[in-house]
This record gives sequence, C-alpha cells and structure tokens, in this order.
Amino acid sequence: MSNIENMPNLCHNLYMFIVECLPFSKVLNKDSLSYFSAQNLEPGSLIKIKVKNRSLNAIVIGSQEAADIKAEIKSADFQLKKIYSLVSKPFLQKEFLDAVKTTAEYFATTEGNILSHLIPSFILENSHALSLTQEDKTNQAAGRDNVGEKTKNDVAVLQVPDEERFIHYRSLIREEFAKKKSVFLCLPQNEDVRQAKEKLERGIESFVYAFHKDVNSKELKKILQEVCSTTHPVLVVATARWLSLPRSDFGTIIIDKENENGWKTISRPFIDLRFFAESLANKKHIRTIIGDSFLRTETLNRYKQGEIAEFESVKWRLPKDVATEIIDLRKFTKKEKARPTALGGQEFKTLSPEILELMNETILKGSNMFVFAARKGLSSVIVCRDCGEQVKCFNCSSPMVLYKTNRTAGGAIFKCHQCGETRDAAEVCQNCRSWKLAAFGSGIDRVADEIRKSIPNSNLFEIHRDITSTSLGALKTVKSFYENRGSILLGTEMAFSYLYKKVGSSAIVSFDSLFSIPDFRIREKIFRLILQTRNLAKEKFLIQTRNPEDSTIEFAVNGNLIEFYRREMEDRQALGYPPFGVFIKITGRGTRLFATKETENLKNIFKDYNPVVFNSVHEKKGEQSAVNAVIKLPKEKWPNFPLLSILKSLPSHFEIKVDPDNLL
Ligand SMILES: [Zn+2]
Ligand SMILES: [Zn+2]
Repeated sequence: MSNIENMPNLCHNLYMFIVECLPFSKVLNKDSLSYFSAQNLEPGSLIKIKVKNRSLNAIVIGSQEAADIKAEIKSADFQLKKIYSLVSKPFLQKEFLDAVKTTAEYFATTEGNILSHLIPSFILENSHALSLTQEDKTNQAAGRDNVGEKTKNDVAVLQVPDEERFIHYRSLIREEFAKKKSVFLCLPQNEDVRQAKEKLERGIESFVYAFHKDVNSKELKKILQEVCSTTHPVLVVATARWLSLPRSDFGTIIIDKENENGWKTISRPFIDLRFFAESLANKKHIRTIIGDSFLRTETLNRYKQGEIAEFESVKWRLPKDVATEIIDLRKFTKKEKARPTALGGQEFKTLSPEILELMNETILKGSNMFVFAARKGLSSVIVCRDCGEQVKCFNCSSPMVLYKTNRTAGGAIFKCHQCGETRDAAEVCQNCRSWKLAAFGSGIDRVADEIRKSIPNSNLFEIHRDITSTSLGALKTVKSFYENRGSILLGTEMAFSYLYKKVGSSAIVSFDSLFSIPDFRIREKIFRLILQTRNLAKEKFLIQTRNPEDSTIEFAVNGNLIEFYRREMEDRQALGYPPFGVFIKITGRGTRLFATKETENLKNIFKDYNPVVFNSVHEKKGEQSAVNAVIKLPKEKWPNFPLLSILKSLPSHFEIKVDPDNLL
C-alpha cells in the first residue's frame, strides 16, 4: 500500500481529484479503492484500473477534490495511483448500485466482489452505448446516502400452474403498458427465457426483448440499443444479470419460477439473485411479483404472515386430472428373490412390470412418455437384498449413506446427510434381520440400459449431462421426441426446462437416492419434482419408490400443497431452519493441520455468536480436511454490523455462505 508520502510533490498539480471506486473482482477483500485523477469523474462511470499489474473494470462511486480531504489522505489506506482510463460515462442507475450494496451486505461480501455476477460482460463492453436519463443522472449525483433505508414496496405472490400463470402475466403486461410502464420478467435459466418469450410475445412482438445465451452478439448489440432507447414501454425477459439495463420506466419486476434451481450463484461470492431482484424493485419503489406453481416454504411463510400480499391467486390444491399410481418397489424385490435369475437373484431390476407395461402401451398407441431418473453418481441408497427395505436414519428417517472409515472395526459407517447422525454399518436389516445390506444405485445410465434390454425396439431419447452437452443438442432431442410417435424420453432434471408441451404419460423410476442429498430443502425439491413430472402427463403418471408411505410423496401425488407446507414448517421449526432463523456457514479447506489450527481460531473469532465449529471430510480431491463454523441468528438480527465486519475481515481462504443449503 502506498500513501501520500510516496507521491511526488507534483501530484497536487496533476491530480486534483480523489476518486473512489468499486473494482470488479471476486477476490479483492476491500469495500472500495481510491485513486488520484485529473478529472472529476461522475459517479457511475466505468473506468479501468490496475491492481497488482492486472487491469480491472471498476465503477466510480464518488469523486472529491483532493484539497478537501488532504488530512484524511494521510491516514487512509489509499492506492494513490493514476487512473488507468475512463471507459464510459455513467450507465448504471443509482437504485441498481444501492441494491448491489444491500445484497453485498446480506451475503457478507463486498460490492466489488458481486458486480461480475450482476452485470454481463457484454454490457461492460458496450456500456458506451447505454446512457442514463436526466433524472437518473441527478439521482446518481445525489450520492450514496440512505442506502440502508427500508422503503415499503409492493410485493405479491402468485401460486398457480404454469399455463395459468402466464395468462395472468399477459394481462399484467397489458395493464402496465397502458400505464406507460415496462415489465421485467426475471427467470433463473436461459432456457426459461426463450420459452417465456414465445409464450408472451403474441401481439406485442416489437416490444419484447429477450436476452439469452443463443442470441448472437450482433443481435445483442441491436436489441441492447433498442431496449434502452425506445420510448414505448417494453417487456424484458431475461435472467437477473440483465436487471442492470438502465430503463427508468419499469413498473413491475416479476420473479418467476422462484422455486427452481439457478438463482443461487455457484461460485464465490455466494449470493441469491432473487434477493437482488427484490431489493432492486424495493429501491426503485416498484412492484415485485413472485410466481411459481409451488413457491418456496420461506416465501409462502412471508405470505401467511401478511408480510407480502396475494397477486390474483394462491392455489393450495392441484386438480386430480391424471390417473396416478404409486408402485412399491419392495414387493417387487421379494418376487425377484423367489424367482432367481441367472445372476442368482442378486441383481435388482430398476423397472417394475407396471412401468414396462406403460412403456409398451405408449409404443403401441403411438403416444409418448417422459421418464425421470436421478443422475448417475448421486449417492446410492443402502438396501436390504432380501426384502428391499432401505437403511434409514433413526433420527430423521432420511436414507443413510455408506462411508468407509478406519474408526470402526468393520471399516464402514452409515451417515445421514440430513441431520449428520452416524452409526456403525455392521447391522442387520430393521425389517427382516437379513445381513445382506448393500449399496444400490439406479442412476440414469442403468435405467437406459434396462429399457433397451427390455424393449429392444423402443424409440428412446435421452437428456442428461453425460449425453447432452449443449442446449441446442437438448432442443433437437426434445423436438425429435415430440415428432416421433411411440417415443420415450428419459431424462434428469435437466429435461424439464426443454419440455415445452404435455406428453401422453410420465413416470418417475429412480429418485429415492435424492432423499440423501445433503440439503435441508431436499424434501421441497423432491415434492416439486413429483408435481412437475405429474403435470407433464395428460393421461397417466406412475411413480416407483421404496418409501411409498413417505408423506412428501403422498402429498405430491395428491396435489396437496397446503399439507406439505404445514408439515415442512413444523419440521423446520423443530430444527430452527429457515424461515425460523438465518444460518451463516464459514468453511475453510486444507490439510488436517490447517483444520485443527483454524478450529480453535474460528471458535475464538465468533465466540460472541455461539458458533458450532466442526471438521468434515474432504469434498474435493487434493483437500484432506475442512473446518466449518455455523452461526444461527434470528431472522431480524441479520445483517448486523459487528458480525458483518468480522466476516469481512476473514482471510480469503474462508468461504462464506449466508443461507446455505446444508449445514454439514
Ligand atoms: Zn430386509
Ligand atoms: Zn438423519
């Protein structure tokens, strides 16, 4: 760090201003950097700076005459270097930067760290083409006061099936257009954007702008220019990264498919883009609509508490318009055993006779069928080879996962990924006392093999990560599937965003292993998965499982959203999970020695917050150990500044997750 003494005396003549900026960097652990500049730069300008010989983009947040703050300079930790270059005039609205600040605070990171999650590089490269209105400029110049101030904006929820939701959206857009207001439809994934555009553009084609991966950069340039200059209200359909578009006439931001994957960033820093979208609407004093066919438990709780309102409709029960059957795989295992195969009855079949029958029927009728299977590599379940019973946690009934260890005589333990409970794996089946407990995985690759073996002439299409590498490839597969009569599409969750219309029948053949995914929202995700698969079918829906009496399955096949919500709230309350509290998880990975040393360290640093500090086994290759600290706070106690400053001062080898998916 240089300070004022190191600067040549000449500098006061050359550099009249001190500019404060937010550097686009995921690693720099600083709230902002300060630079000397000969120019007075407007807040919101994009500049290039040099940090450790690397050129970085940075957003100017303030500029002051050097003479005004001479005394402060002496003591401050300033990087008094010349600004590299000015790239463009202000192109981000003040409300946007305010929402960045609020989001950074909530997720215990810095504004600069999250900027690259929130602004596409395409916008940065073309920022000169964007400009702010006079009103925005005045706003921007007014500075960064009152950022933390809570304003009350209108947030409402809409919980109805997809088709119905889009009807509501269409009239909402019409009404907003009539009021000369634009609408931003924010979605989690690229594929959702393309489909939503197709559903909504009829009649308003020239005012709909969609930003997704497959728009080429020439076209992007054109629509970027148009969307910012046209005076007619527009509908923007895009992922949250495009919320940076500087239009000042947005009347509503819709957060659709709010319960789907894709909202949380998967690399550091970890933030939730739904939080950002809502906080932007809040800063802009405009309406937020949160929509899905089944909303998150946390969101429904806000609605039930009266914190947010209802938009048009919140449906708690889905119609039973599809013939549904639950197949108990355990009874099938028993039959198999009685009828030994060439393999000595040891090999489990993945497909029940009922599923095979439905497939054959589909082919015969020239209809089509979607089959869901969990992806391969997901932890397998432990099953009794004699009776088909699953090994479950005594504490929370989730499936146990087998771990090799040298802590016990047998060298193996069962571990629960939900509550962390472990026990010695040397045990007999709880149901039939058999010793033949073994790991059983029925990933999608196995299911595909079995379909081919059982129905050699089937028209089988597949969508999963091992086979489908591009979204174009997935689109092609789905198209051929719909065009061919008597076809079967086998897919993981990846398939859902590509399936654009209903199919004859649908089935879930392998998903029991999902219950062991370490995520305390996993039941909600499974519930949603069942609803989604069922909703695709016009005639028949089958689901095969080793846990037919599980309430998640029961509520889902009956379309009983309210009972599922009640049960989920009870369970979460018992464990203090969200929405009953906010968790902050700090993780450091390294050698065993590192973990031991840092355990004491973390206990000490967070001693005022009753942290639970524990070591865990390595997650990635090459890392032997990890140390974790979990802090639980009442919802209204976060963010709080003393804790925030401790978190932000942690060395960068610690990873911080606010509202993590698991606490293990
Ligand atoms: Zn058994
Ligand atoms: Zn458990």
